[in-house]
This record gives sequence, C-alpha cells and structure tokens, in this order.
Amino acid sequence: MTEPNLNANSTTGASVPGQLPLRIPEGIRYNCQGCGRCCTGYAVGLTEDDYQRIKDVDWGARYPQLAGKELYTHSEKEYAAGLSLYPHHTKTNEHGECSFLIDNLCSIHSSLGESEKPGMCKLFPYTFVPTPSGIYVGVAMNSMAAVRNIGQLLTDQREQLEHTWHIAVQQEKSHGRASQQVASLADSLTVESLSNVQYDVSLVSGAPLTWEQYLLIEARILRAIQSDEFPNIFHVFLAISDILAESLKLKVSNQDLAAISQFKPSIDRWFEEVPGVFENLVFNLIAFRNNEWTTLRKQYAAEWATSTKSPLTQPPVIKAALRTVLQGKMFIPELGIISLDKARNYKTDAFEPEVDGFIRRYLYHKIFSKTFCGPAMSGLSMIAGFNNLAANFLSGITYAKAYALCRGEKQIRLANLYEAYFLMDKEMASLTQLPREKAQFYDNGFSSARLFCRLFGQISASVGDR
Ligand code: SF4
Repeated sequence: MTEPNLNANSTTGASVPGQLPLRIPEGIRYNCQGCGRCCTGYAVGLTEDDYQRIKDVDWGARYPQLAGKELYTHSEKEYAAGLSLYPHHTKTNEHGECSFLIDNLCSIHSSLGESEKPGMCKLFPYTFVPTPSGIYVGVAMNSMAAVRNIGQLLTDQREQLEHTWHIAVQQEKSHGRASQQVASLADSLTVESLSNVQYDVSLVSGAPLTWEQYLLIEARILRAIQSDEFPNIFHVFLAISDILAESLKLKVSNQDLAAISQFKPSIDRWFEEVPGVFENLVFNLIAFRNNEWTTLRKQYAAEWATSTKSPLTQPPVIKAALRTVLQGKMFIPELGIISLDKARNYKTDAFEPEVDGFIRRYLYHKIFSKTFCGPAMSGLSMIAGFNNLAANFLSGITYAKAYALCRGEKQIRLANLYEAYFLMDKEMASLTQLPREKAQFYDNGFSSARLFCRLFGQISASVGDR
C-alpha cells in the first residue's frame, strides 16, 4: 500500500521533536466575544474539584439574584455507576441559562478569576483529538464566535492551545472513562511517543480502518471540499458520499485503499431521483433534533444532565416530535409552524460566496479536527459521522430557507444559517457523550453512504442552476 502523507495538513509544530504535536487547522479563528450564549441550554458538568472550589462561596452575598437559590444538581450515584460524566452540575435557571450567568458574564470568572471556573468552561470550545499522527485541534461550533469565525487564528494561538490541552487532559482523567490512553500518555505526549496512541475508527460498523487507511480516505474527502473540483456545494456532499461508498467497496474486497486518491466521484444520477417516504421521515426527524428540540431542551437541561430518564419521554416533547416527524410541520419560535417540505424545496438563487465558504469551512474543520467520527464522536463510524454532517447541512439549509420563504426572499441569509449551525452543534455536543450502545444504534441507522443522496439531488435543484 502507498504510504499516506502523515504531514498532510501539517501545521504549527506538528513534527518538532520534543514539542506537543499539535495539528491546527488553517483559517479557523476563535476568541470569546462575551455574548453569553454558550452558557445556555446545558447544565455544566462539575468535577469533584470544580465543585469543591465553588460550593462554599456565599454567592447570594455577592449576587443578590442568587440568594436562596439552589445552584447545583447532584448525580454522584449516576457518576459512580458510569451513567453520568460528572458527579455534580450547575443548575440552569428558568431561561435555560447556567445560574452563574449574570448580565451575560460568568459570575465565577468575575468574582474568583478565570482559573476557578469549571474545567469544562475553561476548555470550551476547544477540541483536541490525539491520534497516531498528532493531536488534532478544533473548536466546537456551539459558540457563535466559532460559527462566525471571529477572533485570532488558531494557528496563532499555539501557547494558549498547549495550556488548554492540559486542561482537556485533566477533564478526561476526571471522567475516568474512554481515553485511558489520554490519561496515561497525555502529559508527556510528543512527536516521538505518538506511535503509542491508539485510535479506533471504522468505515462502517464492523469494517475497521488502520490509521493510514483512514488518512487516505480523509485526504480524498478534504480535496473534494477544498479544491475547485466541485464548485457547487451540494455536489461536494454527493461526491463525498460516492468516495465513501467506493472506499467501502475497496475495503470489503480487500483492495488497496490507496486507489481512492485517484477516484473520480460520479454524482449525476441523483438529480433524477425523488426521495422516498423513508428518507423524508429521517429528514423530518433530523430537522426536529437539530432545530425544535434544541429550543425545547432548554426547559429540560437540568434533568437531561442528571436523570437517566430522557426528557424525550416528556408529553410536550413527544407531541412536538410526532407533529414534526409524521406531519412534516415544525415550530420555529420567530416563524410559527412551517412546512418542512415547502421550506426545503423553496426555490432560491444560487448561494452567495459567503454561504458557500461558510459551509466548506465548517465541513473542512469538522473533518480535519476528527470530531465527526471515531473516539471524539462516541465511536461513530466514518460513514455514519459523515451522514450526520450531511443531515446537519440539509436541516440547516431548510431552516434558513424557511426564513427566506416567510420573507419572500430569493437568497438565504448567512445569519440564519449561522443560527441553525449554532443550534445543531449544541446537539452534536450531546452526541459526543452517548453511551456506546446508543451510539451503535445510531451508527447502524446511518450506515449507508447513499442515505441522503436523493435528498441532496432534490434540494440542489431548488438552489440556483444545478
Ligand atoms: S460556569 Fe460560568 S462560564 Fe461556565 S456555563 Fe456557567 S456562566 Fe458560563
């Protein structure tokens, strides 16, 4: 087999002996803009150390709004049983915000200093994925600054990233699950010790890839995203589906996966096909998960964090889910009830370059940072992980088109797309914490490389000229 170039996408210090082998994506920016939106929708997990640092502070004396309020929930039993990653959580207020968020500022940060904040908040939104070719860095998009690509380039934040990596290691250690290798290797991880890092990833469940095979497929996918091979973004998604389907063919027939680098995707046939009932139901389900549920979940944030009973069993949630999935009617707070079918197929002009650029950046970033599949995504296979990104794209475009439809506009607005991606990446964050058996279920359902091709063929016909 041809050796893949492990220095592909090499960035700052990735191969400097003795240095932390960070691989940092090009063109990705982030600095906190202090909007406070990241601190909503979730109860923040607290390690025992986090909790001990802040539990005896008289918060009511410092902030009258907090006087007499219960600020924490406890899940020690679930934590001991491996059902919760954290023994404690901050309690969310009636607006679904972390109780410590006051006037859009973190009151722990304001009164005790940044170092005293929960580890999870100090780490956010940076992601680190240790692999045999380096520690891949990224930022989660459930931060508006990350979605909008605002701030300093990550490639210029090396020192800060090294510091944050060590916080990430402490967090992993406190979970006591998953990354045992991180716990044992992390503090001393160098270019020389990378070969000790294990990284389990498969193409689909039951078809494991070596790290070299994974990189070969990934390199071909990144080329489809970054080059001018496919000027239409819908075609990029169809092309990646074809690359993955071809990779699977090579893999199951024991052929050399190096051939994928020369593979020419073929996408034309999908423009003639119409999505069936099954695809429409899956699409409606994804739209519910990525949009309506992200609003509903704020009401159930505390329960979600500490209970083994899913808030998805609450009657109002079931009612909303059934309406969206079976009737294709979704509630968007600013727009009311919209028809998913009408919104998805609403005819707009071709995307403006900023929209296309945003979607390519998002895709490149997720794939480069290895946060779409594998150990960073509850062990999802490459095909299931990509399908998840594709589903996000379809529902994000539909969300932005719903706004265009209601306004009678022929262009989707980037601001609406940003909002859709911000909401859905919050949901992605919960996928990263799925227990293995639930992730396996999800993996099986998303295991066809062609799962969304008909939907892509159809929706692309409604955006400019095909
Ligand atoms: S503890 Fe502070 S930084 Fe963390 S979510 Fe709450 S308000 Fe935000």
